[in-house]
Formats: sequence, C-alpha cells, structure tokens
Amino acid sequence: MKTVNFGIDLGTTNSMIACYQNGNLEVFKNPLGLKATLASAVAYRKNRTLIGDKAREFSERDPLNVFTCFKRKMGTSDRYWVPNRDAEVSPIDLSSQILMELKNFIHTGEKPSEVVVTIPASFDTIQSNATKLAGEKAGFKEVHLLQEPIAASLAFANRQQLDLSAEKRWLVYDFGGGTFDVALLKIDDREIDVLDNAGDNFLGGLDIDNTLVEQVLIPVLEKALGVPNLWEECRKKEGKYKTLYYELLYKAEEAKKELSVFDKVEIELEYDDEDVYETVEISRDQFNQLIRPLVQRTLEFTKSLLMTNGLTADSIDRILLVGGTTMIPYVKTCLENEFGIALGTEVDPTEAVGIGAAYFAGTKPKKHTEDTAESQHAALAKAQEFELVYERSSRDEEELIHLTAQGDFNGFYRIKRRDGGFDTGSVAFSKEAFVYVDLLQGELNTFELLITDADQQEVFKHGAIIINQGKYQVKGQVLPIDICLEIDDLTHGVTRLEPIFAKNSLLPLKRMVYKTLSKSILKDSDDSLRINIVEGSSVGLPSSGLTIGFVEISGKALKADLIKGTDIELEITLSESRDLKVDVYLNFTEQEFKNNFTPSERYLEKSELDRDLGACIYKLEQELNMHEDNYEFLAKIKHIKDELIELQIALTLAPDDDVSDTKYSIDNQKRKLMNDFDLLTRQRALNDDLTEYRWVKASVQAELNEEANESYRHQFEKIIADEKTVLNSGNKYLIKAKVKEMESLLGTLFNADDRNFIDVFINYKMNSEQFTDSIKADRMFEEGDRALEQQDYRRLKSVVYQLFSLLPREDKDKSTLRKSDQTGLQ
Ligand code: ADP
Ligand code: MG
Repeated sequence: MKTVNFGIDLGTTNSMIACYQNGNLEVFKNPLGLKATLASAVAYRKNRTLIGDKAREFSERDPLNVFTCFKRKMGTSDRYWVPNRDAEVSPIDLSSQILMELKNFIHTGEKPSEVVVTIPASFDTIQSNATKLAGEKAGFKEVHLLQEPIAASLAFANRQQLDLSAEKRWLVYDFGGGTFDVALLKIDDREIDVLDNAGDNFLGGLDIDNTLVEQVLIPVLEKALGVPNLWEECRKKEGKYKTLYYELLYKAEEAKKELSVFDKVEIELEYDDEDVYETVEISRDQFNQLIRPLVQRTLEFTKSLLMTNGLTADSIDRILLVGGTTMIPYVKTCLENEFGIALGTEVDPTEAVGIGAAYFAGTKPKKHTEDTAESQHAALAKAQEFELVYERSSRDEEELIHLTAQGDFNGFYRIKRRDGGFDTGSVAFSKEAFVYVDLLQGELNTFELLITDADQQEVFKHGAIIINQGKYQVKGQVLPIDICLEIDDLTHGVTRLEPIFAKNSLLPLKRMVYKTLSKSILKDSDDSLRINIVEGSSVGLPSSGLTIGFVEISGKALKADLIKGTDIELEITLSESRDLKVDVYLNFTEQEFKNNFTPSERYLEKSELDRDLGACIYKLEQELNMHEDNYEFLAKIKHIKDELIELQIALTLAPDDDVSDTKYSIDNQKRKLMNDFDLLTRQRALNDDLTEYRWVKASVQAELNEEANESYRHQFEKIIADEKTVLNSGNKYLIKAKVKEMESLLGTLFNADDRNFIDVFINYKMNSEQFTDSIKADRMFEEGDRALEQQDYRRLKSVVYQLFSLLPREDKDKSTLRKSDQTGLQ
C-alpha cells in the first residue's frame, strides 16, 4: 500500500502544492519567482496560456482574456468566453489549468497520480464533484477531497508539539479571497474532529475589493467622467467601460494590502480615453469603517456557530487565523474584542491549508495501485491470508504489530522501517507473531513487511504500515448539509424532505431506506416514480434545497404494474469524496435500478431566479395576510420579505451578461432567507402543535382525576413515556402523531362517562339548524329531553350518536395532489 503524499490547496485567489513523505514536509515553490503560492488566474494569449501571477498581471491590460475567482463558479453551468481563442471555457477547465501548473512545481521524482485537493467545508456535493472533475482533467487518476478547516488545523497542530493531554476546542476562522468559513473542531488524543461549521461561499477579500471600488473609486470617477451609472456600466461584458472594472478591482486590492501595513494610501485613477486623472486618499480608519459590515458578518457566523453548539467563547482555546484576509489588522482586532480568545498565528495564513493537505495526504492510502508487483502480492496474500493489527496513532516510543496467518502457516516475517533505522531481520513464526517496532518521535513511521514461506519464497508483502507518532490525524470529514429524500405528504398535499444523512455525520455514509409507494404506477403508462435526493436542511422546503441525484422510473420501464402500498428499497451511499450512489429495488416487480451521480453543474438563469424571487415574495405576502395578530412574527416575516425585494432589485440592476458573481450570490442569499423563513414558520406551526398537545393533555389529566380507572391511567403513562423526546425533536409529524394519540385517549375517556354527553346534547339543541334531516333531528331532541328528565344518560348518549350522524359530512379527502407534484414515495 502506498500513500498519496501530495496535497493541493485550490484557492479562489491563491493555490499551492505541498508534499509530506517520510517525515518531511516540502512546500513546492514556483520555479518562476520562487513563491510558494500560485495566483489562481489563467490568461489566454494568442498563442499561449499563462497561469498564475503572470496571468494576473494581464488582468489590467487585457481583462477579457484573463480569468480569476472561478472557484466561486465551480458547480455552475456558467462558461467564460475567451475572445483570444474564440472559444468557451468552464470553471472546471480553468481550475484544471491551475492544478496542472502546480504539478509542474514538483521538480523531483515522479509526478503524482493521486492527490488530495482541499475544498471549503461548505462546498455542496455539486461543487465537490466539480473539483474532482478538474483534478481528473489535470491528469490525476484519483482526487481525494479534504475540507479546508481540517487541513488548516492539521498544519497548526503539527507545527509545534502542543500539550493536548486534555480535550480542546478550536475555531478555524478562514477569511480568504472568495469565501468565509468558520469551523468548530475538537482535538482529543491527537485526533481532530470537525464538530460543526458555518460560512458563506460569497464572502471574502474580493468583496472588500468590490466595496472599495463601488463606494470609494466609482463615485470619484462618476463625477469626473459625468457617467451617473458607472457602477452598472463597468460590470457589463461589452461596452465602453469593459476593462475599467478589472483595473479598479486590481487597484483596490493593492491598496487594501498596503493598508495592512500603512496608515493611509493614495490610489491613482486614470481614464486615458477622456483624459481623466484623479487621486483618492484613504486612511486605515476609513477603510475599517467601510469593511465593518463584512467583518461583522463573519463575527455573526462565528457567534451563531458557538451558539448552535451550546458553547460560549470561554470553552474555545484558540482561534486559528487562516486566509489572506486575516492579515488585515482590523479583522484581528474585531476578533479579539468580540471573543477574547488567543489567536493562532504560527502558520502563514495563506499556506496553512496547503501544508495541512500534505499532512493528510501523507496518511491517505492510494486508491489505485499502479505497482503491478504489489498487486500480485495482494493476490498472493488472498490465497494465504494474513491479518495485521496495530495502532495507527501512538504516543509511545514503540508499538506492537500483531500478525496472524489465517490458515496453517510456517515461515518467516521481516519488518523494516523505511528509513532503515529499524529492522527485525528474518524471524521464524507459525500462525501468529507479536512484533514491537521502534518509532521515530513526531513522525509518520512507515514500515514494510515481508513474509516468506519455509523455503524463503516470498508469499506476502505490505509496503506501508503507517504509524503516526506525535502527529495529528483526522478522525473524518463531515457532511456540511443534510442529504434528504423528497417524499409525499399526502395529508397536506405537498412534498417534504426526509433526512437520510444528517449534517455533521462522518463520511463515508451508507443507508438502506424502506419506503411505501403512495400511488400505483401502471406498466407502460406515462406516470413515473420520482426519487429525488436533495441536499438541504431537512426542515426546509424541498424547493430550498439542491437536487444532487434524481432517478425517474417511468411506467415504461416496469415489468409489471406497481401497486400502491407495496414496498421499495433504496440503498444510498455517499463516499468520502462525495460520490452519490442510489440503488433502487422494486420488490414487487423484482427490478433493480443502479445509479451513480456526480453532478458537477447547476444551471442558473437570471430570469428564472427573478421568477423564483417573485414566487418567494408572494409566499411571504400570503403569510403576512394570514396572521394579523402575532406582531413579532409578522415583523420578522416582513424583514425577510424586504430583503428579498432588495435582492430582486439588485438582480434587476445587474446587467444581463453580468461578469461578476451577482447572480450566484443573490441565489445564495435567497436560499438563506427562505431557510430562515422555513425555520420561522416551522417554529410557529410547532408552537401551535405544542400548545394543542398541552391542552389535550391537560384535558386528559382532568378526566383522569375524576375517573380513576387504572387501564386509562396506564394508557396515559404510555403516551407520555417518550413525550420529551418527541416534543423536543422539532419534527412536526411526530408531534402531530402524539397529539392524535392523546386526543384519542381523550375521546375514549369522554365516551366512558355517559354524563359527558349532556353538554353535547345541549349544544346540539342550541344549533339545531345545522342538521340535515330536521324532522328526524326534532324527534331525537324530544327523545333526548325525555332521557335527561329520567337521568338515563346511556340513552342520551345514543341520542347524541344518532344526532351526530345527521350532521353534514365534511369532505375530508385531501389527497388531491397534482400529478407532477407527487413523488410516489411516502
Ligand atoms: P483563497 O484561499 O481564497 O485563495 P487566500 O487565503 O490566499 O485566498 O487570501 C487571498 C485574499 O487575501 C485576497 O483577497 C487578498 O487580497 C487578501 N490578502 C492577501 N494578503 C493580504 C494582506 N496583506 N492584507 C489584506 N488582505 C490580503
Ligand atoms: Mg483558502
């Protein structure tokens, strides 16, 4: 077994490659300029392609042929037009260019066939898959994904030998060029575990640059040029000011970086065509004021991450600073003021992720073994099976390797440390052996095992038994968002999401899901069963999530009719690198459908987003008209509605062929707002249900006090046994079911005492006009009056039942789902 060893930080603004092998960490430098990081920029010249800093230099001169920040568009169907080539390129193409260039940084040995590439913790499945595709395009056989906060924490943890005898909690605050991520980690016994994370894929240094351009530079130029809508004009792909936006962005970024060192800077603005030359001075204080809202947003994310995990700042040991934007002094000041926690600054914030990726790669086994000799050994090992047991992580100076032969065996073993510092020599053994091996401190120790038979013929070889001494390891990567199945909610005539894998579950994941068909699908019909795997909060609306896997089984594909109520089995697996597999078994027709999904693009049309925003606003308006009494709730809904309207205005103002990320950023914000809305309405509906439950329960208790019948009391106890779990679950379906249970007991109790029917009878009498057959009803009223006189409550009860049957029947059939809205699963 070999390990991957190479790790790449594929950043929005900067990328880098490093390697961890045989206890050595190496950061590969760009042969040109000897910088460790490579700007994530690609420039298409007439005859050649420039990558990195060289490309970035062209963004002022020839911006239309230079591409940066494409990581923000990973996973979308957006394409970039390259005038110099008269061709289109995708964000995946551009990313693969960067990966190929990084590969060229490796000046010694063989070029790796597998690599670890980091992704923001908040990357969804589509974005993750797009990243893998870029790696494959760059010629890597296998791309292992690693979440950036884990990578960064590995770099910090392995930098110094920290005393971590007690469990610790860290925050990784990563404020980069395009994204902001904050992660909560637990460090325990040399294992790093991500507990939770939050962040925004559209919040980074670029937004600071944009703010500088929009609020400082543009106003000056608008005046000088006499163009009042210059901000809109300059973001258009074609037009008079098409290169201006890029020039200004570049200047803003340079000024921003200078302000990390100096108290003020002067920015020169030129527009040759109109002979305009202006200078703008900006002080660090002004700059801080300007970026305050952006920094504040990162603090809000951080605070809410702590809050949702029930933590206060006191329980956090340190905040690791990652990402170039944390070099801004104001960011550090804000963090210190807000949390008062020690800031981790030992590792260069722009290198931490790449270094951590290499540490991870150093322990990651390769998926493909290109070494045929080794695979032959693997085949041999199958014939004669050996089992190896050892601790992969150790704090001791030596460790035990336990070797067992599965069948009868007589022969020799030899275990050698790869650096040659330890060697058992050939040792005879039969069946099993206990071998103590010496460990190098603070290293990944790699041992090789060779087993020979009695004739000294090789029968088994293991190339990499890795024992980590004193280095930190990753427990696993977690899912950033719930993965759900869309199913029918027949009672409410809508569909809803049922969680399959919950946020923060450790990858890889696998689950069997058993479902019942909610409708029949006839063989050869046009009707179909829809299996929609959605990434999004399980408490949200199906429309606020993203589809990552979709299987449609049409009647045409069926061998026999599928009957409502029969079972269907789904096996859903998600790999560590986020490959989704959905296998469907239709028990009734004995058919099996296997599907692998690696969706890497999502399409977003401006007009569709506009329509969608309109629909969301309409939905909120309806909600506003419905609840006139709950002012606090209404104010919150109104606030969301106002923000949605603002988004719609921003979208309208954005040019149709917008070259910036406006569209995706708006879509992102829209989904967040609708998520808030979901939570609000869900909470309100939950509160209603909880109140109802408490009311019914109190009524039952009142009845029980009067009627001390043990069997009823027993039923009551049974219902309330798991009450706490259900009420705290936040799941409205479970709570509703609980209310029903309690109601049914209330009904039974009510029925048990005939005197309870006196009130009902009187009530019926007072509203006698509601009965369908008034002659029969009148007769019943006479009969009831007599029964009351004689205190014959049993007879009164039967009168009430008769009257009940004379009430108009309510049409309760709500199963009128529109065909297309139904998934067929329940
Ligand atoms: P990413 O991970 O998104 O590739 P980095 O962590 O490399 O990004 O950070 C890049 C961002 O950091 C850019 O927006 C850049 O302008 C900003 N940056 C780099 N150095 C500084 C600095 N000294 N002061 C302020 N911002 C900086
Ligand atoms: Mg980064």
